[in-house]
Amino acid sequence: MNVGNAGGRTAGSMNNEPADMSVADADVSDEELCSLFPGAVDRDSAAHLRGRLRRRLLINRCAECGTWHAPPKPVCPSCLSEHVVATPVSGAGTIFMAVFLHQGPPAEGVDYSTPYPVVTVELDEQPGLRYSSTVVGSPNEEIQIGRRVELDWIMRGNVPTPVFRLAGKSRA
Ligand SMILES: [Zn+2]
Repeated sequence: MNVGNAGGRTAGSMNNEPADMSVADADVSDEELCSLFPGAVDRDSAAHLRGRLRRRLLINRCAECGTWHAPPKPVCPSCLSEHVVATPVSGAGTIFMAVFLHQGPPAEGVDYSTPYPVVTVELDEQPGLRYSSTVVGSPNEEIQIGRRVELDWIMRGNVPTPVFRLAGKSRA
């Protein structure tokens, strides 16, 4: 993408985006991206963060051998190709690990008194491909290893944030 190039905005692309877009134009400049995701933007993450603005969970996939990897790195861990592409995933998967945080750094929308669930989900796209976030819409006692989940999105800090919801639970 346009990391290192400040002139990334594409004029005239703002009118046909879905109405629920929190940011009218996901083709944001690097400066805008940095202001939306303070401290999180670098060469490996920029495409993924732009995907979040469009509510797409992107995971790096090797264009040579098809192997997915996360978190994003510039080189395929399987074949060492540098031809990796941020590629949408369904977000469906199985809870691999679940922890419940009783304390932690203050963060918008995070309530440690509940306590706050954090799950690592093994995504359906590939065995061992995992992504961590919270679970919404279910009491903690239902958030268990082995449960099926699907992707959902919540707003946090004015940007869409990928979260999980137990499969079969209706969306907010
Ligand atoms: Zn590869």
